[in-house]
Amino acid sequence: MENTKELYAQMGINETVYACAKKAEEALKDKFLKIDEVAEYNQLKVVKAMQECMVGEACLLGTTGYGYNDIGRETLEKVYAHVFHTEDALVRPQITCGTHALALALSANLRPGDEVLSPVGKPYDTLEEVIGIRPSKGSLAEYGITYAQVDLLDNDAFDHEGIKKALNEKTKLVTIQRSKGYANRRSFGVKQIGELISFIKSIRPDVICMVDNCYGEFVETIEPTDVGADLCVGSLIKNPGGGLAPIGGYIVGKKEYVENCAYRLTSPGLGKEVGASLGILSPFYQGFFLSPTVVASALKSAIFASYLLDGLGFSVLPTPTEDRHDIIQAVTFGTPEGVIAFCKGIQAGAPVDSYVTPEPWDMPGYDSDVIMAAGCFVSGSSIELSADGPMKEPYNVYFQGGLTYPHGKFGIMKAVNQLLEDGVIGIQDLKNMI
Ligand SMILES: *Cc1c(COP(=O)(O)O)cnc(C)c1O
Repeated sequence: MENTKELYAQMGINETVYACAKKAEEALKDKFLKIDEVAEYNQLKVVKAMQECMVGEACLLGTTGYGYNDIGRETLEKVYAHVFHTEDALVRPQITCGTHALALALSANLRPGDEVLSPVGKPYDTLEEVIGIRPSKGSLAEYGITYAQVDLLDNDAFDHEGIKKALNEKTKLVTIQRSKGYANRRSFGVKQIGELISFIKSIRPDVICMVDNCYGEFVETIEPTDVGADLCVGSLIKNPGGGLAPIGGYIVGKKEYVENCAYRLTSPGLGKEVGASLGILSPFYQGFFLSPTVVASALKSAIFASYLLDGLGFSVLPTPTEDRHDIIQAVTFGTPEGVIAFCKGIQAGAPVDSYVTPEPWDMPGYDSDVIMAAGCFVSGSSIELSADGPMKEPYNVYFQGGLTYPHGKFGIMKAVNQLLEDGVIGIQDLKNMI
């Protein structure tokens, strides 16, 4: 399409970057096809759940005040429970973000004297303060809940011996993070998480296995709750919100544990019965409906980025050919300049705030300055095309999202273009790829 090429040129894309992009797409055709097959399965899974739960027009309206008998809220929770194959679900706009959902699941199911174990190394940065790994007001540690951690082995394998030793009579809950977050490791496949859960349950059948599912939803045809997770937690401004949910979090799993979360979120005695939906449910439903294809777009964008940056000589995780278990793409630039240029480019490709320049800042919850590129319709939404990099060694950028693949592709082309303009790469580096 000659006029598409022309439009790219008008939007600042260098001719050689365009040629590299074309090359990448050709190489990734089969990968893209596989992603579409998973999306097709998951799309059917969601529609089936919506039909079986009899989602009707009335569900899209909202309640006010206490929100008793909110049919939309109750049906949406049934839909989530159907899709995740769980006994129960809590899906609420009153859950403010992923960290809140995780903090809720932990604090609701742990009591003073209990211990929480992470058998997969250090959890996501914001969880450090929730647990009290870094001292913080209101942390689990302040309530007398202790924390144990078993690191992964060199090849990202589980340390079975270490985990066995760490499981003790105090261990009440095991938290397993599916996505790598800001850690330099691989993300776990659902099957692999299932194996870990089986191992843990073989030693301690009564321990609660919770999975932080952030960025993982709909990447595979199964979810952690299909392989033994008792609780699975995520954010609606990531995958399952499909880019439309403007806020919210979900917790799915065993009835008893989800109910505990509801009592903690609202109040003992009230639980799931209150929590007005305020007319916000329509985008929750529609976003969940769109999520499988939005996740597919994000995955294609991630693989496209992986291919280009790998070709330019940067170390990428996952590689373009590896199986994917979440929508995150990590790239190691090794220098602050690389991180900043890449993020500048992503920002310049955004539909909103494309004219601003992102800068590193001291974000709450993180232990170093972080630069974030996000020109989003929903503020901070990371299912939309976004990139962030902690300003510390090894100078990684974590890139994710893209509500549509054409936009993800364009954003990445802008980022590569910016690397070129800022001298992080040279034109010959690009030419070598073609
Ligand atoms: C994003 C994320 C969180 C925290 O979610 P927020 O919505 O940013 O609070 C927790 N764990 C993982 C793995 C994440 O990716």
